[in-house]
Amino acid sequence: MSLQAGIPSGILDGDLLQCEDVHRVYPVKVSPLFRNLLEKPGDPIWRQVMPDVRELRDEGPLAMEDPLGEEARSPVPNLVHRYPDRVLWIVSHVCAVHCRFCTRKRRWTRPVALNEEMIQRALDYIARTPAVRDVLLSGGDPLMLSAAMVDDLCSRLRRISHVRILRVGTRVPFAAPERITDELVGVLRGHHPLFVNIHVNHPREITPEAREACARLADAGIPLGSQTVLLRDVNDDPSVLEELFVELLSLRVRPYYLLQMDLMKSTAHFRTGVSDGLRLLQRLRNRISGLALPQFVVDLPGGYGKVPLLPQAVEKIEAERIVFRNYEGRRCSYPLVEGEGPVLAKLLGKDG
Ligand code: SF4
Repeated sequence: MSLQAGIPSGILDGDLLQCEDVHRVYPVKVSPLFRNLLEKPGDPIWRQVMPDVRELRDEGPLAMEDPLGEEARSPVPNLVHRYPDRVLWIVSHVCAVHCRFCTRKRRWTRPVALNEEMIQRALDYIARTPAVRDVLLSGGDPLMLSAAMVDDLCSRLRRISHVRILRVGTRVPFAAPERITDELVGVLRGHHPLFVNIHVNHPREITPEAREACARLADAGIPLGSQTVLLRDVNDDPSVLEELFVELLSLRVRPYYLLQMDLMKSTAHFRTGVSDGLRLLQRLRNRISGLALPQFVVDLPGGYGKVPLLPQAVEKIEAERIVFRNYEGRRCSYPLVEGEGPVLAKLLGKDG
């Protein structure tokens, strides 16, 4: 499909040809609701979903196809086993929108659609791994599946006695809230304890439709959390984050994670310095309730897991990198932007 299909005429600027090149490598997909939210090039919704020629220029050692090492940590296709007690199951290859900063962009043009054999292999793995207590349904977006399919997957997981917690990671309540139907809510409610973690990045995504979708989920007793990716020129501003987190809390969505950008190839133009996120949260700490403050985390390159940006997680700060210890005590580094080492050391109290 050409890039212009589905995008209102006149909204693309003179870079259309170059954007077509980007679209061929990383296809554009915008939900009807997000399409209505597009105002002009460079606005916060635009930057999240519209192609940028810089996506094709991001090369070099920090540009990775699979920054979280998910393929290497998949004992069976589409199932990532990174932490001892949890697995992430990629149950859908479809999303409501294609976020230009997505960590799984590699799958957009090489989707691995789930079939019955793969489902059974994943279930067999989980069943023979009693340490797994918690299954996160991910994607793509699991809520792009039919309600019947979500029900089937959850029911089969619920038959495995050591699986206690189900979680769903989704962008649907904000990007395609019309999918949060009574039927789907009824299915999710039938599989408690089940948590829904919603991807949302900017207050402009909080539309009346999204409010209603969150209310339907919360009224069904489904605990809601959010995860927000810290994105340059989208939400790296304290007043934007303050408005977002306070609004989310009022929707009964508890801000859970603020994520440092992964080192995904084609996304460098979105990346902020690690110190930016820390500084932003420090600014917010005295302005908003602790309930509305998410944890700032880095998902370590190579699949070493998430670490919170806390002084005790940081082993040392060098000119070009910060060295973390992960939950297993293993060392892993994350690159710093030029000159931020001393600032970061001060913020984390590591400058003595
Ligand atoms: S919704 Fe999630 S998986 Fe889908 S494109 Fe956006 S970040 Fe990637």
